[in-house]
Amino acid sequence: MVDRLANSEANTRRINIVENCFGAAGQPLTIPGRVLIGEGVLTKLCRKKPKARQFFLFNDILVYGNIVIQKKKYNKQHIIPLENVTIDSIKDEGDLRNGWLIKTPTKSFAVYAATATEKSEWMNHINKCVTDLLSKSGKTPSNEHAAVWVPDSEATVCMRCQKAKFTPVNRRHHCRKCGFVVCGPCSEKRFLLPSQSSKPVRICDFCYDLLSTGDMATCQPTRSDSYSQSLKSPLNDVSDDDDDDDDSSD
Ligand SMILES: [Zn+2]
Ligand SMILES: [Zn+2]
Repeated sequence: MVDRLANSEANTRRINIVENCFGAAGQPLTIPGRVLIGEGVLTKLCRKKPKARQFFLFNDILVYGNIVIQKKKYNKQHIIPLENVTIDSIKDEGDLRNGWLIKTPTKSFAVYAATATEKSEWMNHINKCVTDLLSKSGKTPSNEHAAVWVPDSEATVCMRCQKAKFTPVNRRHHCRKCGFVVCGPCSEKRFLLPSQSSKPVRICDFCYDLLSTGDMATCQPTRSDSYSQSLKSPLNDVSDDDDDDDDSSD
């Protein structure tokens, strides 16, 4: 069924429409063999709060963006190669229901569907696409994933020292290894996590100790401790105070 659609005019037309909705700022999405499997609005758990995002599942990529005008205009396009994706169901909790984690080496986050049926449809389709891709390429599923960030609202004090209270001045930071919300003094160090960035990234003291002694199973070797040590000055780190969250600007 999928292969038949791949060659159909209807598929090409649908992909064109998606491409046009993102406008010039989006990437070209039409490539031979690409099929649009499905689309819909999911609630993405962002750093500040859950937000509605439009998602498009293709047979090889997952695309999402902010909704400017429903079904007409989207922006802030993100493209995730499905080959690197692993998904995990999340238990319902309060208002956050029908959710699952989308985990990739560079970024991991939670999304929620409106109904349990939608959730299982999304999860089944994503899993099928990933399985098909991996069986075609002969690759093994990626087992290194970026931490899912704990939302800001879940921490009023630092999750490491349990002392520092967050205020507009004493800001929240995220450890790139464990995803905890931590204070500045508890996350002064940097460590090279090559799957996330070519530059050393912010990590909390707890993860730094684990990583630098090699106790962490998924530890990535860094060139040397002194390399990351030399970058730990809080003064040169103002630029990533926003934790590079792509959703923080809206
Ligand atoms: Zn702290
Ligand atoms: Zn950490």
